[in-house]
Amino acid sequence: MLYACLLPDFVSMPLNPGFPSEPLPEPPSGPTGESFFILDSDGPKSVQTAAPSAVQPLFGLSIEQLSELMAGLGEQNFRARQLAQALYRDRTPDLDTITTLPLALREKLAAAAYAVGLPPILQTFRSIDGTERYLIGASGNQTVETVWMPDGDGAEDNDDEADTSPVRKRATICVSSQIGCAVNCQFCLTAKLGIERNLTAGEIVGQVVALLRRHQVELGRDRINLVFMGMGEPFLNYNAFMDAVRLLVDEVGLPPSRMTVSTSGIVPGIERFAKETVRPRLAISLNASNNTVREAVMPITRKWPIEAVIEAARSMPLGPREKITFEYVLLGGVNDSLIHADEVVTLARRAGFPSKVNLIVWNPGPGIPYHQPKGEDVARFQQRLIARGVPAFIRRPRGRDIYAACGQLKKTTEANS
Ligand code: SAH
Ligand code: SF4
Repeated sequence: MLYACLLPDFVSMPLNPGFPSEPLPEPPSGPTGESFFILDSDGPKSVQTAAPSAVQPLFGLSIEQLSELMAGLGEQNFRARQLAQALYRDRTPDLDTITTLPLALREKLAAAAYAVGLPPILQTFRSIDGTERYLIGASGNQTVETVWMPDGDGAEDNDDEADTSPVRKRATICVSSQIGCAVNCQFCLTAKLGIERNLTAGEIVGQVVALLRRHQVELGRDRINLVFMGMGEPFLNYNAFMDAVRLLVDEVGLPPSRMTVSTSGIVPGIERFAKETVRPRLAISLNASNNTVREAVMPITRKWPIEAVIEAARSMPLGPREKITFEYVLLGGVNDSLIHADEVVTLARRAGFPSKVNLIVWNPGPGIPYHQPKGEDVARFQQRLIARGVPAFIRRPRGRDIYAACGQLKKTTEANS
């Protein structure tokens, strides 16, 4: 509560101090110039996707779009399927090596300024715990962050799937949806960047495919989970995020039941998401047990209070054993008492849908004025939830030494020294 009085008033400020105060220029027209809207207290603002470039990436195109492209080039439709196979399943990095396509077609594509466009891994940081953080190239000389966590961090555990089949390799990929973020959560390092831009569907899928390629993943033998918990708020880049999900399911071959999207509570996004027939699981970043504390740590609560977020989630039809996850970042002395735990229990019960709580010990970042909770308080919090019938798990912090943990993604080009 102490923090509440130190924080700026959400109503009088944009969602993020880094958010441009001047209106952004009109987005350019063309295939990569789609604009999206950020909803904030000052009304919608448009955020651009990648600037159009001379080279057209094939990566990110759906099978329908590839079919249109083939038709436009006077090619037969089965070529679109071959191209999709090369891009998304074989992870072929350039046109020259797509040998399933005749040379003449590859030349035609190159002459029309098409390239594969699989994003390159520019830098890799490896943690002592095996976690790897990557800076991946995005258009306009920008980079995006993606994290590979061998064995995951517990966030993705599908506790409803008792699957004991032998698996060669298990990992969780933490995917970014935007460069920076417009939601000004006070405990999050990504928030410090402000929003730079939305990622395209190709740039979102590209992060995943680049990592599958690097780690020579064999889907079917290896167990890969995806969490959309990297940089950005997926529901403020809804169309590209969902286009990416469809590509990941239909073309890359990852099941939606192994994907989780986390939102800070963008109500219109949750309502839309609830109507999707193929979708990842939902995680809501609750992070506080009542609106007063939540407004202090997540000013977006003034726009969409906890009850509105839960009401929107309630409209989502759940699978037979599906649960909605509440993520709860424990901030020492702010939201980690037993009173807070009891309020979380009340919220979870009132929600009425099957849920579980993932407790995340706050990861510190430079210039962020919070404290880590004490170990015993974390354990007490978890035990209280469990004792009162709310499943609760503690997420293992991963890759803290390389700024790869939750809320630490800030395009850092150094390891944590
Ligand atoms: N923008 C989305 C997804 C990315 S953040 C969201 O907020 O849900 C992913 C998770 O990291 C969220 O649950 C968020 O609350 C948590 N997080 C952010 N900063 C953190 C920090 N410094 N330490 C621990 N968790 C953090
Ligand atoms: Fe954005 Fe999520 Fe960080 Fe909040 S916690 S600033 S929504 S990335």
